[in-house]
Amino acid sequence: MRLVMKFGGASVADGERIRHVATLVRSYREQGHEIAVVTSAMKGVTDALLMAARAASEKGDADAVLKSVSDIRTQHERAAEVCIEHEPTREHVLDSIATLLDDLERALVGICYLGELTPRSLDYISSFGERLAAPMLAGALQSIGVPSRSMDGMEAGILTDSTHGDARPLDITYERIAQRVAPLLEECVPVVGGFMGADERGVITTLGRGGSDLTASLVGAGIGAHEIWLWKETDGIMTTDPHLVPEARSLRQISYAEAMEMSYFGAKVLHPRAIEPAIRHSIPVRVKNTFHPEREGTLIVADHVPSKSVVKAITVIRNVALITISGSGMIGTIGVAARVFSSLARAGVNIRMISQGSSEANISMVVDEAHAQRAVRTLREEFRHNIVKDVSLNEHVCVVAVVGAGMIGTPGVAGRVFSTMGRNGINVIMISQGSSQSNISFVIDERDARRAVAVLHEEFALHEIE
Ligand code: ASP
Ligand code: MG
Repeated sequence: MRLVMKFGGASVADGERIRHVATLVRSYREQGHEIAVVTSAMKGVTDALLMAARAASEKGDADAVLKSVSDIRTQHERAAEVCIEHEPTREHVLDSIATLLDDLERALVGICYLGELTPRSLDYISSFGERLAAPMLAGALQSIGVPSRSMDGMEAGILTDSTHGDARPLDITYERIAQRVAPLLEECVPVVGGFMGADERGVITTLGRGGSDLTASLVGAGIGAHEIWLWKETDGIMTTDPHLVPEARSLRQISYAEAMEMSYFGAKVLHPRAIEPAIRHSIPVRVKNTFHPEREGTLIVADHVPSKSVVKAITVIRNVALITISGSGMIGTIGVAARVFSSLARAGVNIRMISQGSSEANISMVVDEAHAQRAVRTLREEFRHNIVKDVSLNEHVCVVAVVGAGMIGTPGVAGRVFSTMGRNGINVIMISQGSSQSNISFVIDERDARRAVAVLHEEFALHEIE
Protein backbone atom coordinates (compact mmCIF):
# COMPACT_ATOMS: atom_id res chain seq x y z
CA MET A 1 0.00 0.00 0.00
CA ARG A 2 0.93 3.60 -0.44
CA LEU A 3 0.71 5.27 2.98
CA VAL A 4 1.20 8.61 4.69
CA MET A 5 2.25 8.32 8.32
CA LYS A 6 1.98 11.38 10.50
CA PHE A 7 3.67 11.64 13.89
CA GLY A 8 2.63 14.30 16.40
CA GLY A 9 4.85 16.18 18.84
CA ALA A 10 4.48 13.60 21.61
CA SER A 11 5.59 10.81 19.22
CA VAL A 12 8.81 12.69 18.49
CA ALA A 13 9.23 14.11 22.01
CA ASP A 14 12.84 12.96 22.46
CA GLY A 15 15.60 10.85 20.94
CA GLU A 16 14.18 7.54 22.15
CA ARG A 17 10.74 8.30 20.77
CA ILE A 18 12.19 9.37 17.42
CA ARG A 19 14.20 6.18 17.23
CA HIS A 20 11.04 4.22 17.96
CA VAL A 21 9.21 6.07 15.17
CA ALA A 22 12.02 5.34 12.73
CA THR A 23 11.91 1.63 13.59
CA LEU A 24 8.14 1.59 13.12
CA VAL A 25 8.43 3.17 9.69
CA ARG A 26 11.18 0.71 8.73
CA SER A 27 9.07 -2.29 9.73
CA TYR A 28 6.17 -1.17 7.52
CA ARG A 29 8.51 -0.38 4.65
CA GLU A 30 10.00 -3.86 4.94
CA GLN A 31 6.50 -5.25 4.51
CA GLY A 32 6.53 -3.64 1.08
CA HIS A 33 4.60 -0.42 1.72
CA GLU A 34 5.53 2.88 0.11
CA ILE A 35 5.59 5.46 2.87
CA ALA A 36 5.70 9.24 3.11
CA VAL A 37 6.14 10.62 6.62
CA VAL A 38 4.84 13.90 8.01
CA THR A 39 6.22 15.08 11.32
CA SER A 40 5.21 17.69 13.89
CA ALA A 41 7.71 19.71 15.87
CA MET A 42 9.24 17.96 18.88
CA LYS A 43 6.94 18.26 21.88
CA GLY A 44 6.84 21.76 23.35
CA VAL A 45 8.89 23.38 20.60
CA THR A 46 6.06 25.27 18.84
CA ASP A 47 4.95 26.71 22.17
CA ALA A 48 8.54 27.67 23.03
CA LEU A 49 8.92 29.41 19.67
CA LEU A 50 5.70 31.37 20.10
CA MET A 51 6.77 32.41 23.58
CA ALA A 52 10.20 33.47 22.41
CA ALA A 53 8.66 35.56 19.64
CA ARG A 54 6.33 37.31 22.10
CA ALA A 55 9.15 37.89 24.61
CA ALA A 56 11.24 39.39 21.83
CA SER A 57 8.59 41.82 20.64
CA GLU A 58 7.09 42.76 24.00
CA LYS A 59 10.16 42.96 26.18
CA GLY A 60 12.96 43.28 23.64
CA ASP A 61 14.88 40.94 25.89
CA ALA A 62 17.74 39.64 23.72
CA ASP A 63 19.20 37.55 26.54
CA ALA A 64 15.91 35.72 27.00
CA VAL A 65 15.78 35.09 23.26
CA LEU A 66 19.30 33.66 23.19
CA LYS A 67 18.41 31.44 26.13
CA SER A 68 15.33 30.00 24.43
CA VAL A 69 17.21 29.33 21.20
CA SER A 70 19.92 27.64 23.20
CA ASP A 71 17.31 25.45 24.97
CA ILE A 72 15.83 24.42 21.64
CA ARG A 73 19.34 23.70 20.37
CA THR A 74 20.11 21.48 23.35
CA GLN A 75 16.81 19.62 22.99
CA HIS A 76 17.55 18.80 19.34
CA GLU A 77 21.24 18.01 19.80
CA ARG A 78 20.45 15.61 22.64
CA ALA A 79 17.79 13.91 20.57
CA ALA A 80 20.17 13.57 17.61
CA GLU A 81 22.75 11.90 19.84
CA VAL A 82 20.21 9.27 20.78
CA CYS A 83 18.30 8.69 17.57
CA ILE A 84 21.10 8.88 14.98
CA GLU A 85 23.82 6.35 15.70
CA HIS A 86 25.55 6.54 12.33
CA GLU A 87 28.09 9.29 12.88
CA PRO A 88 28.44 10.93 9.45
CA THR A 89 24.63 11.08 9.23
CA ARG A 90 24.44 12.65 12.67
CA GLU A 91 27.08 15.24 11.79
CA HIS A 92 25.17 16.13 8.68
CA VAL A 93 21.89 16.52 10.57
CA LEU A 94 23.55 18.57 13.31
CA ASP A 95 24.88 20.87 10.60
CA SER A 96 21.41 21.42 9.13
CA ILE A 97 19.99 22.03 12.60
CA ALA A 98 22.73 24.54 13.39
CA THR A 99 22.06 26.47 10.18
CA LEU A 100 18.33 26.61 10.92
CA LEU A 101 18.92 27.72 14.49
CA ASP A 102 21.24 30.50 13.36
CA ASP A 103 18.47 31.79 11.09
CA LEU A 104 15.98 31.53 13.93
CA GLU A 105 18.25 33.40 16.30
CA ARG A 106 18.84 36.20 13.82
CA ALA A 107 15.12 36.60 13.23
CA LEU A 108 14.31 36.69 16.94
CA VAL A 109 17.05 39.20 17.68
CA GLY A 110 15.71 41.31 14.82
CA ILE A 111 12.27 41.25 16.41
CA CYS A 112 13.84 42.39 19.70
CA TYR A 113 15.27 45.44 17.98
CA LEU A 114 12.15 46.23 15.98
CA GLY A 115 9.83 45.65 18.94
CA GLU A 116 7.24 44.51 16.46
CA LEU A 117 5.84 41.09 15.69
CA THR A 118 3.77 40.83 12.53
CA PRO A 119 1.63 37.76 11.79
CA ARG A 120 4.04 37.11 8.95
CA SER A 121 7.11 37.06 11.20
CA LEU A 122 5.25 34.96 13.79
CA ASP A 123 4.65 32.33 11.08
CA TYR A 124 8.27 32.45 10.06
CA ILE A 125 9.35 31.85 13.67
CA SER A 126 6.81 29.14 14.48
CA SER A 127 7.63 27.17 11.31
CA PHE A 128 11.05 26.27 12.73
CA GLY A 129 9.74 23.46 14.97
CA GLU A 130 8.74 21.25 12.04
CA ARG A 131 11.72 22.36 9.93
CA LEU A 132 14.03 21.13 12.69
CA ALA A 133 12.14 17.90 13.31
CA ALA A 134 12.07 16.71 9.69
CA PRO A 135 15.84 16.40 9.10
CA MET A 136 16.19 14.71 12.47
CA LEU A 137 13.64 12.02 11.70
CA ALA A 138 15.07 11.55 8.21
CA GLY A 139 18.51 11.15 9.82
CA ALA A 140 17.15 8.59 12.27
CA LEU A 141 15.74 6.60 9.33
CA GLN A 142 18.98 6.77 7.35
CA SER A 143 20.90 5.71 10.40
CA ILE A 144 18.98 2.42 10.56
CA GLY A 145 19.38 1.77 6.86
CA VAL A 146 16.23 3.36 5.42
CA PRO A 147 16.96 5.78 2.58
CA SER A 148 15.18 9.01 3.43
CA ARG A 149 15.00 12.67 2.50
CA SER A 150 13.61 15.57 4.48
CA MET A 151 11.69 18.50 3.06
CA ASP A 152 9.83 21.41 4.58
CA GLY A 153 6.26 22.31 3.70
CA MET A 154 7.30 24.75 1.00
CA GLU A 155 9.64 22.26 -0.67
CA ALA A 156 6.90 19.64 -0.55
CA GLY A 157 4.68 21.98 -2.56
CA ILE A 158 2.16 23.27 -0.02
CA LEU A 159 0.92 26.53 -1.49
CA THR A 160 -1.48 28.59 0.62
CA ASP A 161 -3.25 31.92 0.73
CA SER A 162 -1.61 34.62 2.84
CA THR A 163 -3.75 34.30 5.98
CA HIS A 164 -0.87 34.07 8.39
CA GLY A 165 -1.46 31.81 11.38
CA ASP A 166 -4.33 30.01 9.70
CA ALA A 167 -3.47 29.74 6.03
CA ARG A 168 -5.70 27.81 3.63
CA PRO A 169 -4.02 25.54 1.10
CA LEU A 170 -4.74 26.28 -2.55
CA ASP A 171 -5.94 23.49 -4.83
CA ILE A 172 -2.76 23.50 -6.88
CA THR A 173 -1.04 22.04 -3.81
CA TYR A 174 -2.17 18.53 -4.77
CA GLU A 175 -0.52 18.68 -8.17
CA ARG A 176 2.66 20.10 -6.72
CA ILE A 177 2.86 17.37 -4.10
CA ALA A 178 2.27 14.80 -6.84
CA GLN A 179 5.24 16.21 -8.74
CA ARG A 180 7.60 16.71 -5.82
CA VAL A 181 6.87 14.01 -3.25
CA ALA A 182 5.32 11.11 -5.16
CA PRO A 183 8.36 10.39 -7.40
CA LEU A 184 10.56 9.92 -4.32
CA LEU A 185 8.49 7.12 -2.85
CA GLU A 186 10.02 4.32 -4.83
CA GLU A 187 13.56 5.06 -3.76
CA CYS A 188 13.15 6.53 -0.27
CA VAL A 189 10.92 7.66 2.57
CA PRO A 190 10.33 11.39 2.20
CA VAL A 191 9.91 13.11 5.58
CA VAL A 192 7.86 16.29 5.28
CA GLY A 193 7.79 18.85 8.09
CA GLY A 194 4.13 19.52 8.89
CA PHE A 195 2.28 22.74 9.73
CA MET A 196 4.12 24.95 7.26
CA GLY A 197 3.41 26.15 3.74
CA ALA A 198 4.21 29.18 1.65
CA ASP A 199 2.11 31.68 -0.25
CA GLU A 200 2.46 32.58 -3.90
CA ARG A 201 5.22 35.06 -3.17
CA GLY A 202 7.20 32.38 -1.36
CA VAL A 203 6.48 33.82 2.10
CA ILE A 204 6.25 31.17 4.82
CA THR A 205 2.77 30.54 6.25
CA THR A 206 1.41 28.12 8.86
CA LEU A 207 -1.77 26.08 8.79
CA GLY A 208 -3.05 26.76 12.33
CA ARG A 209 -2.32 24.94 15.59
CA GLY A 210 -2.33 21.20 15.09
CA GLY A 211 -1.84 21.88 11.38
CA SER A 212 0.40 18.87 10.76
CA ASP A 213 -2.69 16.67 10.48
CA LEU A 214 -3.75 18.87 7.59
CA THR A 215 -0.30 18.51 6.02
CA ALA A 216 -0.70 14.74 6.27
CA SER A 217 -4.07 14.85 4.50
CA LEU A 218 -2.70 17.10 1.78
CA VAL A 219 0.30 14.84 1.21
CA GLY A 220 -1.98 11.79 1.25
CA ALA A 221 -4.24 13.29 -1.41
CA GLY A 222 -1.26 14.56 -3.42
CA ILE A 223 0.54 11.22 -3.64
CA GLY A 224 -2.69 9.23 -4.03
CA ALA A 225 -2.23 7.31 -0.77
CA HIS A 226 -4.40 4.30 0.01
CA GLU A 227 -4.62 5.36 3.66
CA ILE A 228 -3.43 8.19 5.88
CA TRP A 229 -2.22 7.01 9.27
CA LEU A 230 -2.25 9.43 12.17
CA TRP A 231 -0.12 7.97 14.93
CA LYS A 232 -1.11 8.93 18.48
CA GLU A 233 -0.42 7.77 22.01
CA THR A 234 -3.91 6.31 22.42
CA ASP A 235 -5.81 3.42 20.83
CA GLY A 236 -7.42 5.30 17.99
CA ILE A 237 -10.71 7.06 18.58
CA MET A 238 -12.40 5.99 21.76
CA THR A 239 -16.04 5.75 22.84
CA THR A 240 -15.17 8.32 25.47
CA ASP A 241 -12.23 9.69 27.44
CA PRO A 242 -10.70 6.66 29.24
CA HIS A 243 -9.69 8.97 32.09
CA LEU A 244 -13.39 9.50 32.75
CA VAL A 245 -14.64 5.99 32.03
CA PRO A 246 -12.08 3.18 32.32
CA GLU A 247 -14.35 0.89 30.23
CA ALA A 248 -13.95 3.19 27.20
CA ARG A 249 -13.33 1.18 24.03
CA SER A 250 -11.53 1.97 20.84
CA LEU A 251 -13.85 2.21 17.82
CA ARG A 252 -12.94 -0.03 14.90
CA GLN A 253 -14.53 2.03 12.14
CA ILE A 254 -16.39 5.31 12.00
CA SER A 255 -17.44 7.61 9.19
CA TYR A 256 -15.89 10.96 8.37
CA ALA A 257 -19.20 12.54 9.39
CA GLU A 258 -19.00 10.99 12.83
CA ALA A 259 -15.35 11.89 13.22
CA MET A 260 -16.19 15.49 12.41
CA GLU A 261 -18.87 15.56 15.10
CA MET A 262 -16.47 14.10 17.60
CA SER A 263 -13.78 16.57 16.83
CA TYR A 264 -16.07 19.48 16.71
CA PHE A 265 -16.00 20.29 20.38
CA GLY A 266 -12.68 19.05 21.66
CA ALA A 267 -9.36 19.51 19.93
CA LYS A 268 -8.67 15.98 21.10
CA VAL A 269 -9.72 13.87 18.17
CA LEU A 270 -9.28 15.42 14.76
CA HIS A 271 -9.78 18.86 13.34
CA PRO A 272 -12.49 18.78 10.65
CA ARG A 273 -10.39 20.97 8.43
CA ALA A 274 -7.54 18.52 8.74
CA ILE A 275 -9.44 15.64 7.19
CA GLU A 276 -11.23 17.69 4.57
CA PRO A 277 -8.67 16.84 1.83
CA ALA A 278 -8.94 13.17 2.76
CA ILE A 279 -12.71 13.33 2.51
CA ARG A 280 -12.56 15.10 -0.81
CA HIS A 281 -10.30 12.41 -2.23
CA SER A 282 -12.01 9.55 -0.37
CA ILE A 283 -8.86 8.44 1.39
CA PRO A 284 -9.49 6.50 4.60
CA VAL A 285 -7.76 7.93 7.68
CA ARG A 286 -6.51 5.52 10.33
CA VAL A 287 -5.69 6.57 13.88
CA LYS A 288 -3.10 4.25 15.42
CA ASN A 289 -1.26 3.87 18.71
CA THR A 290 2.56 4.15 18.56
CA PHE A 291 2.79 2.01 21.70
CA HIS A 292 0.64 -0.77 20.20
CA PRO A 293 1.26 -0.76 16.45
CA GLU A 294 -0.08 -4.32 16.21
CA ARG A 295 -3.58 -3.04 17.05
CA GLU A 296 -5.65 -1.84 14.14
CA GLY A 297 -6.68 1.49 15.62
CA THR A 298 -9.70 3.32 14.23
CA LEU A 299 -10.39 3.55 10.52
CA ILE A 300 -12.31 6.61 9.36
CA VAL A 301 -14.12 6.02 6.09
CA ALA A 302 -16.61 7.71 3.79
CA ASP A 303 -19.56 5.40 4.25
CA HIS A 304 -21.79 5.20 7.23
CA VAL A 305 -20.57 2.33 9.36
CA PRO A 306 -23.55 0.46 10.75
CA SER A 307 -23.26 -0.63 14.34
CA LYS A 308 -25.59 -2.26 16.81
CA SER A 309 -25.39 0.87 18.87
CA VAL A 310 -26.88 4.04 17.41
CA VAL A 311 -24.60 6.04 19.68
CA LYS A 312 -20.87 5.63 19.16
CA ALA A 313 -19.21 8.10 21.44
CA ILE A 314 -19.76 10.50 24.28
CA THR A 315 -17.52 13.49 24.61
CA VAL A 316 -17.33 16.16 27.24
CA ILE A 317 -16.09 19.67 26.71
CA ARG A 318 -14.83 21.66 29.62
CA ASN A 319 -13.58 25.24 29.92
CA VAL A 320 -16.75 26.63 28.48
CA ALA A 321 -19.28 29.10 29.84
CA LEU A 322 -22.99 29.61 29.30
CA ILE A 323 -24.33 33.06 28.48
CA THR A 324 -28.04 33.79 28.46
CA ILE A 325 -29.62 37.01 27.32
CA SER A 326 -33.25 37.67 28.10
CA GLY A 327 -35.90 40.32 28.01
CA SER A 328 -39.51 40.52 26.95
CA GLY A 329 -38.45 43.18 24.42
CA MET A 330 -36.84 40.39 22.40
CA ILE A 331 -40.16 38.75 21.65
CA GLY A 332 -41.07 39.28 18.02
CA THR A 333 -38.28 41.80 17.50
CA ILE A 334 -36.47 41.10 14.27
CA GLY A 335 -32.69 41.37 14.17
CA VAL A 336 -31.84 40.58 17.79
CA ALA A 337 -30.03 37.36 16.93
CA ALA A 338 -28.19 39.10 14.11
CA ARG A 339 -26.95 41.77 16.50
CA VAL A 340 -25.96 39.22 19.13
CA PHE A 341 -23.89 37.16 16.75
CA SER A 342 -22.33 39.92 14.73
CA SER A 343 -21.27 41.88 17.80
CA LEU A 344 -19.72 38.71 19.25
CA ALA A 345 -18.00 37.95 15.97
CA ARG A 346 -16.49 41.44 15.90
CA ALA A 347 -15.24 40.87 19.44
CA GLY A 348 -13.58 37.61 18.34
CA VAL A 349 -15.75 35.37 20.52
CA ASN A 350 -16.01 31.74 19.52
CA ILE A 351 -19.54 30.39 19.92
CA ARG A 352 -19.86 26.65 20.39
CA MET A 353 -23.56 26.12 20.92
CA ILE A 354 -26.73 28.17 20.46
CA SER A 355 -30.31 27.81 21.54
CA GLN A 356 -33.39 29.99 21.39
CA GLY A 357 -36.74 28.79 22.67
CA SER A 358 -39.83 29.52 20.63
CA SER A 359 -41.01 32.04 23.24
CA GLU A 360 -38.15 34.17 21.87
CA ALA A 361 -37.68 35.68 25.31
CA ASN A 362 -34.13 34.42 25.66
CA ILE A 363 -31.13 33.20 23.70
CA SER A 364 -28.48 31.01 25.29
CA MET A 365 -25.07 30.27 23.96
CA VAL A 366 -21.98 28.40 25.03
CA VAL A 367 -18.65 30.12 24.48
CA ASP A 368 -15.05 29.30 25.32
CA GLU A 369 -14.37 30.21 28.94
CA ALA A 370 -11.49 32.42 27.87
CA HIS A 371 -13.92 34.54 25.83
CA ALA A 372 -16.72 34.68 28.40
CA GLN A 373 -16.04 38.01 30.08
CA ARG A 374 -15.44 39.69 26.76
CA ALA A 375 -18.66 38.24 25.40
CA VAL A 376 -20.70 39.54 28.34
CA ARG A 377 -19.16 43.01 28.07
CA THR A 378 -19.83 43.09 24.33
CA LEU A 379 -23.48 42.08 24.72
CA ARG A 380 -24.13 44.57 27.53
CA GLU A 381 -22.60 47.28 25.38
CA GLU A 382 -24.50 46.27 22.24
CA PHE A 383 -27.87 46.30 24.02
CA ARG A 384 -27.14 49.05 26.53
CA HIS A 385 -30.27 50.99 25.60
CA ASN A 386 -33.03 48.50 25.02
CA ILE A 387 -34.46 45.11 24.11
CA VAL A 388 -32.25 42.89 26.24
CA LYS A 389 -32.85 43.23 29.95
CA ASP A 390 -30.39 40.79 31.34
CA VAL A 391 -27.11 39.14 30.31
CA SER A 392 -26.17 36.33 32.65
CA LEU A 393 -23.05 34.20 32.83
CA ASN A 394 -22.48 30.73 34.25
CA GLU A 395 -18.90 29.55 34.11
CA HIS A 396 -19.40 26.31 36.00
CA VAL A 397 -20.77 24.27 33.15
CA CYS A 398 -19.62 21.75 30.61
CA VAL A 399 -21.03 20.38 27.38
CA VAL A 400 -21.76 16.69 26.85
CA ALA A 401 -22.08 15.54 23.24
CA VAL A 402 -23.62 12.22 22.26
CA VAL A 403 -22.45 11.25 18.77
CA GLY A 404 -23.36 8.60 16.22
CA ALA A 405 -24.65 8.61 12.66
CA GLY A 406 -27.05 5.81 13.63
CA MET A 407 -29.10 8.42 15.50
CA ILE A 408 -30.22 9.90 12.19
CA GLY A 409 -33.91 9.15 11.86
CA THR A 410 -33.90 6.80 14.85
CA PRO A 411 -36.60 7.89 17.27
CA GLY A 412 -36.07 7.65 20.98
CA VAL A 413 -32.36 8.42 21.29
CA ALA A 414 -32.89 11.86 22.82
CA GLY A 415 -35.49 10.31 25.09
CA ARG A 416 -32.98 7.76 26.36
CA VAL A 417 -30.28 10.37 26.79
CA PHE A 418 -32.42 12.70 28.85
CA SER A 419 -34.25 10.09 30.88
CA THR A 420 -30.83 8.70 31.82
CA MET A 421 -29.94 12.16 33.06
CA GLY A 422 -33.25 12.41 34.90
CA ARG A 423 -32.91 9.01 36.58
CA ASN A 424 -29.51 10.01 37.82
CA GLY A 425 -30.62 13.36 39.13
CA ILE A 426 -28.51 15.35 36.66
CA ASN A 427 -30.02 18.67 35.72
CA VAL A 428 -29.91 19.57 32.03
CA ILE A 429 -29.45 23.30 31.54
CA MET A 430 -29.55 23.69 27.77
CA ILE A 431 -30.00 21.38 24.79
CA SER A 432 -29.10 21.50 21.14
CA GLN A 433 -29.42 19.02 18.31
CA GLY A 434 -28.51 20.12 14.84
CA SER A 435 -30.69 18.82 12.05
CA SER A 436 -27.80 16.60 10.95
CA GLN A 437 -29.13 14.57 13.91
CA SER A 438 -25.84 12.83 14.49
CA ASN A 439 -24.93 14.89 17.54
CA ILE A 440 -27.04 15.74 20.58
CA SER A 441 -25.29 18.25 22.81
CA PHE A 442 -26.39 19.53 26.16
CA VAL A 443 -25.09 21.65 28.99
CA ILE A 444 -24.85 20.49 32.61
CA ASP A 445 -23.10 21.62 35.76
CA GLU A 446 -19.43 20.77 35.48
CA ARG A 447 -19.60 18.82 38.74
CA ASP A 448 -21.90 16.31 37.02
CA ALA A 449 -19.58 15.72 34.04
CA ARG A 450 -17.93 12.49 35.05
CA ARG A 451 -21.15 10.87 36.22
CA ALA A 452 -23.10 11.96 33.15
CA VAL A 453 -20.56 10.43 30.82
CA ALA A 454 -20.34 7.23 32.85
CA VAL A 455 -24.10 6.62 32.96
CA LEU A 456 -24.55 7.38 29.26
CA HIS A 457 -21.66 5.07 28.36
CA GLU A 458 -23.44 2.38 30.34
CA GLU A 459 -26.92 3.17 28.96
CA PHE A 460 -25.75 2.74 25.37
CA ALA A 461 -23.55 -0.25 26.27
CA LEU A 462 -20.51 1.36 24.68
CA HIS A 463 -18.16 -0.96 26.55
CA GLU A 464 -19.48 -3.70 24.25
CA ILE A 465 -19.36 -1.80 20.99
CA GLU A 466 -17.86 -3.64 18.03
N1 ASP B 1 3.55 22.03 15.83
C1 ASP B 1 2.28 22.58 15.52
C2 ASP B 1 1.48 22.79 16.80
O1 ASP B 1 1.97 22.51 17.87
C3 ASP B 1 1.56 21.78 14.51
C4 ASP B 1 1.24 20.37 14.90
O2 ASP B 1 1.86 19.82 15.82
O3 ASP B 1 0.37 19.76 14.29
O4 ASP B 1 0.38 23.25 16.73
MG1 MG C 1 -16.27 26.35 32.86
